[in-house]
Amino acid sequence: MDEGRVIYRTAGLTKSYGEGPAAVHALRGVDLTVHAGELLVLLGPSGSGKSTLLNILGGLDRATSGQAWFEDLELTALDEDGLTEYRRRSIGFVFQFYNLIASLTARENVQLITDIAEDPMTPEEALALVGLEDRLDHFPAQLSGGEQQRVAIARAIAKRPQVLLCDEPTGALDSKTGIRVLTALETINREVGTTVFIITHNAVIAEMADEVVRFADGAIASHGRNPVRRSATGLEW
Ligand code: ADP
Repeated sequence: MDEGRVIYRTAGLTKSYGEGPAAVHALRGVDLTVHAGELLVLLGPSGSGKSTLLNILGGLDRATSGQAWFEDLELTALDEDGLTEYRRRSIGFVFQFYNLIASLTARENVQLITDIAEDPMTPEEALALVGLEDRLDHFPAQLSGGEQQRVAIARAIAKRPQVLLCDEPTGALDSKTGIRVLTALETINREVGTTVFIITHNAVIAEMADEVVRFADGAIASHGRNPVRRSATGLEW
């Protein structure tokens, strides 16, 4: 892992919905630099712009003004095809809901991705990274919510993306299963070197981050480095 390498940079990034007095300003000018290999937690109240930023960095949404770069690729200059190619090559997404295919086993859900990726892990490798090596042939209905989320994480990382973007990955889970999910994300960050973003409402989760970015009203209210990064297994919420 190259600790000093900048992977993302944004300058004056804005996103507005609508125009005039009724306009909603989801992002009001975000300047952010992110280094490769870090685990970032994005904190802040609902509606403060966290998902909007993540979606722009992930190439799922477009900014209204300002610029965003992934390495030397200017995301804000790409057309839809360019964004699709960028997402396919470089980004894994994890959302609050797992979106697994009910009629496929854990292994087969991951295989859907590994069959079409360029240099994928095997489904077994990806599922072992999230601690599910003994659940390969289970169907989603036979797995707990936390286990299903870990299958979704294995599916997201199996193509070896440089970046894993997680929007409220523990939002639907109790604390014990949530911590297992966070531990899986931590393992991927440490062992594979993937840059990981986690959006959460839960300030305790920030203790496992290298960097904590706090949002308020469409802007970054603070951005700091944790002096000591705590293991997810030690979190209590
Ligand atoms: P967070 O992730 O912090 O909860 P979001 O980025 O989802 O915040 O939303 C930021 C603001 O943008 C909110 O006020 C939200 O209502 C608004 N917003 C998000 N998506 C849309 C949309 N498609 N149309 C209009 N407003 C939106």
